[in-house]
Amino acid sequence: MTSTLHRTQSVILQREGYTLHILPVLEDNYAYIIEWDGRAAVVDLPDGEPVLKYLKQQGLSLELVLNTHAHFDHVAGNLEVKEATGCTIVGPATDSIPGLDRPVREGDVVMAGPLRFTVLETPGHTRHDIVYYAESGHVLFSGDTLFAGGCGRLFECTEDTMWDSLVKLRDLPDETEVFPGHEYAADNLAFAHQYLPDHRELTARLDVVCALRSDQFPVVPTSIGIEKAANIFFLADDPEIQAALNLSGCEPAVAFGEIRKRKDRF
Ligand code: ZN
Ligand code: FE
Repeated sequence: MTSTLHRTQSVILQREGYTLHILPVLEDNYAYIIEWDGRAAVVDLPDGEPVLKYLKQQGLSLELVLNTHAHFDHVAGNLEVKEATGCTIVGPATDSIPGLDRPVREGDVVMAGPLRFTVLETPGHTRHDIVYYAESGHVLFSGDTLFAGGCGRLFECTEDTMWDSLVKLRDLPDETEVFPGHEYAADNLAFAHQYLPDHRELTARLDVVCALRSDQFPVVPTSIGIEKAANIFFLADDPEIQAALNLSGCEPAVAFGEIRKRKDRF
């Protein structure tokens, strides 16, 4: 069998006052390491061992884990990493986050070095999904709520709930850089493109995504502006998109739910 799976490269971004390490873990998850002054916070822990190894290589001491939701591929490394580093685990207020020290809710503030995150509750993928938004840094860690070109599956909520969460993120400033929990960009864009082969922004975005992926680069970060132009799920209330999908006149959440169902079968 020929494998089309690529081992995505890790990428290091220099930002004002901190460094951001994009670390591909497992098949298509990301762990994001925020580094400042030799210290670190990590957003989601799909696996403990590679993250601990990377922190050691880089000489970083881990202070914080920020979990977006309780699915195994986001929290599997929690206990191992907590035991090894004594870090504090922050996450949504639910029993199912292993080692949770600090449950957070809508509007709570979490400091990670120079980044001041506000917690936004975005139920839909699970009932307890949260995202971490740093307004001054224009940074959003979107977990499995918003992906490049897509959104999370609806495991525990209705389409109305997820649609509200997506609109909440869509209302953030366009320049907000988005760091999602998975690398699903190529698949999401290919799905959308079959309905909208002549859509200019989608086609342009698909070209960019294919070029990045053929060199095994992450399609990260994306931005709210990019997603507003080329994410079919964000565009569920757009008349042109609705027409192309045979959903004209549908309530936005209904159209969104139908798009989500079609993507589940794609
Ligand atoms: Zn998940
Ligand atoms: Fe996930």
